[in-house]
Amino acid sequence: MKKIHYTKPSVGELEAQYVLDAVTHGWGERCYEYITRFEKTFAEHLGATYAIATSSCTGALHMGMAALGVGADDEVILGNTNWIASAAPIDYLGARPVFVDVLEDSWCLDPRQVRAAITPKTKAILAVHLYGNLCDMDALLAIGAEFGIPVIEDAAEAIGSQWQGKAAGSMGAFGAFSFHGTKTMTTGEGGMFVTSDRALYERVLTLSNHGRVAGSTRQFWPDFIGFKYKMSNLQAAIGCAQVERIDELIERKRAIFNRYAQGLHGLVGVSMNPQPTHSRNGYWMPTVVLDEALGITRDTLIEAFKAQEIDARVFFWPLSSLPMFQAHDVDTPVSFSLCERAINLPSYHDMTDEDQGRVIGVIHHVLKCKELQ
Ligand SMILES: *Cc1c(COP(=O)(O)O)cnc(C)c1O
Repeated sequence: MKKIHYTKPSVGELEAQYVLDAVTHGWGERCYEYITRFEKTFAEHLGATYAIATSSCTGALHMGMAALGVGADDEVILGNTNWIASAAPIDYLGARPVFVDVLEDSWCLDPRQVRAAITPKTKAILAVHLYGNLCDMDALLAIGAEFGIPVIEDAAEAIGSQWQGKAAGSMGAFGAFSFHGTKTMTTGEGGMFVTSDRALYERVLTLSNHGRVAGSTRQFWPDFIGFKYKMSNLQAAIGCAQVERIDELIERKRAIFNRYAQGLHGLVGVSMNPQPTHSRNGYWMPTVVLDEALGITRDTLIEAFKAQEIDARVFFWPLSSLPMFQAHDVDTPVSFSLCERAINLPSYHDMTDEDQGRVIGVIHHVLKCKELQ
């Protein structure tokens, strides 16, 4: 039986052609050409003004939060259902992640919980668009405006997602993206900081340059301690090709999701990534959530997929369940319940209709077995 992997990037001839050009000619005077082009075309795709390519999304978040002044003793509010990369930069800066519950349908930040968690120490709200799903940006931006707190978008999983016509990552104080090999578009490893705020852009640019101010007359003169999270021209060459193909990459993700949705249509107690009206879900990772009433757990699903040589992936654990955050006092029943009965389905661009049929078959089988019990 052919193994079905859960993720794999779509990289082809165009990427190879650009990388060959970068490795052959992209040095000396031309050592930033692909980087500049990648930043420009990616920002255009989003409808944002400024972009800075980075070595990771983690790095983009770290610099962006540093530029917003997040520091010792500050608090940053985020959903408890998340990957560690969203929370780690908060810790790097000596601040405290404050975990609140997520919504049952979007698996993203519950705006009412955000409002309730605001204290005088709150320095930012981190809106993570989970698995392509969109946070309620209208509600979060309104709360941010009311309290004078910036809303940051971690859009690593939301390439192709749009909230009422606006690209995920383009609405908050800044957006951060990841081009890790598992994401909708890739540069192997890599990320992007995006903003339309000129002052914030300039602060991050200086930070990303080891604290050297652009246009300074003194060479090799850092004014303060900065960071080194740069993307190489070689990676940016891959990125340029991926941006040219971005509509195709997004459309394929959406087609894969729609095929699953069709195959699972009508199954009682099974829900998938929602797409709010007037919005578009980029469907980075098609995910199935089973109603508690079905009594089927994540482990049952994983075993069933394993038996069919299919890689399914566990839903994110609540961050407060991880060893480093266990001392945090949180009350997030939805986050804890979701991860017990949800699973990410394989969704790489090159998977076939037959592969998807096998995945769909396993879910039908698990539900039928339960019915017969
Ligand atoms: C992948 C991911 C990251 C981390 O991206 P890196 O480029 O690996 O640093 C951050 N946030 C979210 C939501 C992610 O999915």
